[in-house]
Amino acid sequence: MSDCIFCKIVKGEIPATKIYENDNVIAFRDIKAASPEHVLVIPKVHKSSLNDFDHNDQLLLGELLLTVKKLAQDLGVAESGYRTVINTKDDGGQTVHHLHLHLLAGRKHSWPPG
Ligand code: AMP
Repeated sequence: MSDCIFCKIVKGEIPATKIYENDNVIAFRDIKAASPEHVLVIPKVHKSSLNDFDHNDQLLLGELLLTVKKLAQDLGVAESGYRTVINTKDDGGQTVHHLHLHLLAGRKHSWPPG
């Protein structure tokens, strides 16, 4: 989508601190880190939210989750632990309407979230 900031990051039209990329997904550091490690993992294809996925997207959804796991290992936080978050629409706190998985680590995360 032309006015989507995460699509612009995928296309290289705006800068981001990318830490991983393959044919289907890209991961970059959150511009406003909420934890010492805060990475966003997104599909390259534009999907507004989890609501836009169906059974045809099972492989992509699996790849997004496995990318979070891989990056947690790469960042050295797999054993200490990490929080994985998908915010969906207004009540979920979604502010960027291109699906993204938050990987948060490097501190203790409380439950329930705010
Ligand atoms: P959410 O509230 O779940 O939609 O999360 C959106 C996240 O995107 C927030 O944590 C923002 O700090 C982050 N964000 C917004 N714009 C950028 C950007 N240009 N580069 C990196 N992260 C961004």
